[in-house]
Amino acid sequence: MKKRFLPAARAQLSCQEVAMLADSHAHLDTFSPEVLPQVLQRSQEAGVSLILSVGMNLDSSRRAVRLAEQHEMVYPAIGIHPWEALEIDLELSGRLRALARRPQVVAVSEIGLDFARRSDNKELQMLCFRHQVRLARGEELPVLVHSREAHQEVLAILREEGGYQVGGAVHGFTGTAAEVQDWLGLGFSVSIGRALLRAEMSHLAEVVPLIPLERLLLETDAYAGGQAPATAEPSAVRGVAERVASLRGLTLEQVAEATTNNLKALLGL
Ligand SMILES: [Zn+2]
Repeated sequence: MKKRFLPAARAQLSCQEVAMLADSHAHLDTFSPEVLPQVLQRSQEAGVSLILSVGMNLDSSRRAVRLAEQHEMVYPAIGIHPWEALEIDLELSGRLRALARRPQVVAVSEIGLDFARRSDNKELQMLCFRHQVRLARGEELPVLVHSREAHQEVLAILREEGGYQVGGAVHGFTGTAAEVQDWLGLGFSVSIGRALLRAEMSHLAEVVPLIPLERLLLETDAYAGGQAPATAEPSAVRGVAERVASLRGLTLEQVAEATTNNLKALLGL
């Protein structure tokens, strides 16, 4: 590495020198088997060493488990997304539990409530979420939570079902400073994604420095087939980390190391 040719003003680092980054939320099972190896390769080149691949439903959760068997850097979370909320009968409950007990599985996700997307099935979403918080508690797995226009309801269910006992994080956080305090009060971490890079989310520049470094996670919510595939890969977590570093007056390595350690601690790795 020819460091002397790099500009001195800005600490530009090669990928190898960057402390490991971790993506706490990606939908790797949405990438085709043909492109996934390249996606993971690009992630590694960007310094990413750990990716939590979260399920949307039973099938994608199973695929996430399979990906974890094939790729060392991938860990699976299983769960039913609020967009796919459905009645969890005995049979589905048993299947989810069996999946949660697979040795690779480290979390229950993606679960939560999304009243922005749909408000006509709130009761169903809440039942589905509640069931999965119970599952997580029973299996002693942390929860990574999706919350959209349902902040109070999500918190209430986590409190009522003892979700704070297993710990967890709110994913893709775009809320307010007051909401950060609610999550911290519950003992949860706060995961920041690519929204931090969007101009219309400028309030996050003030909110992110309020999150204690030891409670901060980073993510991409990578999903194949988006409008901008180049940014919708786990490698994009590096851009989020760089922005967090500049907002907090830290180096990229400090942010990478802290957030990677935070995710490992949360997932028991
Ligand atoms: Zn997601």
